[in-house]
Amino acid sequence: MNEMLQSLNDKLDILEKSLGYVFKDRSILLASITHRSFSAEYYKKIPDYEVLEFLGDAVLSLIVSEVLIKEFPQAREGELSQIRSAIISEVYLSKLARELNLQDYILISRGERYQKGSERDSLLCDVFEAVFGAMYIDAGYSIDIPRDIFLMYFKDKIITDIKTDNIPRDFKSLLQIETQRIYGTLPKYRLLKEEGPEHEKIFTVECKVDNITTIGKGKSKKEAETQAAKEAYHIIKPDI
Ligand code: MN
Repeated sequence: MNEMLQSLNDKLDILEKSLGYVFKDRSILLASITHRSFSAEYYKKIPDYEVLEFLGDAVLSLIVSEVLIKEFPQAREGELSQIRSAIISEVYLSKLARELNLQDYILISRGERYQKGSERDSLLCDVFEAVFGAMYIDAGYSIDIPRDIFLMYFKDKIITDIKTDNIPRDFKSLLQIETQRIYGTLPKYRLLKEEGPEHEKIFTVECKVDNITTIGKGKSKKEAETQAAKEAYHIIKPDI
């Protein structure tokens, strides 16, 4: 066995250890970390991660949906789908990928590597999806193992991030949907104050919904409104 294959095998050993799962078919794991540019440059016969990524995207979407409906049984479809898309976004999944150090395993061509390819968010997100797609296939097209592994690593983090508003949500539209549903009215925003020099103004906005009044501050009117909407939304929906 040549040196390169040996070091590749060592790499896969470490990756399996950090995932906490040993693949029955290691070629699937290999494909999941192989970028198109690498198979073109070195082993034309090695499949790249693209189809696994396609599958993994659906696998993660299902796992995250399950976490959300169990954790937030009172939440409505619109709320759940906003949170789910923020979680399975490139920005967020690339963070999870870094927690598994996936950037150390991605196989890309030398040219791509020069451009720091393996650290790009989109690449990291793709490989994260592909690794979960690979586990799904390797486990006999079953969600159980990818789900267990995902939950073990990320469930607590996701729930904390939702509760501490580290998951971006459009609070103005969420609030509007809720107030229309509960009170049959729209929230009313009013600019209270505009202070500071021209280039660093601070806006203060009031948001009124039924008998709830909240205040938001921000560098723009929109930012202040969003802040006020978020406060009001959390009063109306304290559990999500
Ligand atoms: Mn992707």
